[in-house]
Amino acid sequence: MRNSNKRNHLLLLYKNIIENLPFIDEKGEKKELANTFICPICLKSFDISDYDNITIEHVPPEKLGGRPLLLTCKDCNNICGSSLDVHLINGIKNSLSLRNFTSKAHKATLNVDNMSINADATLRNDGELLFFIDEKRNNPQTISSIKEGLGTNITFDRISANISISEQKSNSRSAAIAILKSAYLLAFYHLGYKYILHSNLDCIRKQILFPEEDIFPGKYILSNERYMPENLSDGIYLISLNGTNLYGVILSFKTKGYDFTHRSLVALPHPEDKDGSIYVKEMREIEKSTPIISIKARLSVKNSTICGLQNLP
Ligand SMILES: [Zn+2]
Repeated sequence: MRNSNKRNHLLLLYKNIIENLPFIDEKGEKKELANTFICPICLKSFDISDYDNITIEHVPPEKLGGRPLLLTCKDCNNICGSSLDVHLINGIKNSLSLRNFTSKAHKATLNVDNMSINADATLRNDGELLFFIDEKRNNPQTISSIKEGLGTNITFDRISANISISEQKSNSRSAAIAILKSAYLLAFYHLGYKYILHSNLDCIRKQILFPEEDIFPGKYILSNERYMPENLSDGIYLISLNGTNLYGVILSFKTKGYDFTHRSLVALPHPEDKDGSIYVKEMREIEKSTPIISIKARLSVKNSTICGLQNLP
C-alpha cells in the first residue's frame, strides 16, 4: 500500500474509533470529536485534514524491522526519532558488530619501529589474527620499506597494532526509553485508546516526551533476548511480577544484514491499577531483588488494528 493510501486507511480507522470514545469535557458534556486525530504519544488533537502534522509511525522503528502500524503527530515522530530511536538503533548495531568481530575485517594500524602502516585486521575462527596491508592506503615509501624488511630483520617484538572497532554514538538510557516507546505504541496498536487513556499511563508518556528527566524508576525492561521464552510471539501478555498483575509487551528488533533478532519484554501498567502506583512500586522493587516473572496469558486481540473499543481483561 502506498504511503498516502496507508495513511488515509489509518486515518479512517482513527476517525471511527475517536468519534466513539466517551470524552467528557470540563463542563461534563460529551466532547465533539468528529474529524479529530489524537496523537497517542502527546495526546494533542489535530483535525484529520491536517496532513502536515499527522505522520505514519513504524513500530518498532523502521530501521529495526518495524511496520507502519499507526499514526503519531509529526513532532512526536521527529523528536522521538532523533532523541530516542537513533540510540537504540546504534546500540543494537554496536553490540552486533562486537558479536560479529570474527566475521569481518576491521581497520587497524601496525606500528613497526617508527613506521605506521594502515591495514585490515581479521580474526579467524581458529584464533589467528591476520593483517592485510593494502598498498593503496599507504605511503609508497612505507610499502617499499616493508618489502625490503620482509624476511630479514622484522621481529614480532618490534610490532604493535591498534585495531579500531567503529562504534556509533549510543546512550543506553535513551535506548531503553526507545524500547519503552515501541512497547507503549504496540500496546496502543493492540488495545487502543481504551487502554492508553488511563491516567496510569501518564508516567510513561511523560518519560517518552521528557527522556532527560527521571519520571519513574527503572527496570521496565524485564528481560532481553537471552531469557525470552522462544515460543512466545510479539504481542501483549498478562504477566505476573512477584505476584502482581501487569501487562507485558514482547517485541522484536531486527537489523538488516545481521541474522540476529534482539527481543525485549517490557512491563506496562494493568488497567485496574487506576493511578499507576502499583506499577511504579513494582518497578522500584525490581531494582532491589531478582523478580519472579511469569507469563499468564496472551491478550487476545480480535482485529489487531487500533481496536480501541473492546473490553480489556
Ligand atoms: Zn504527538
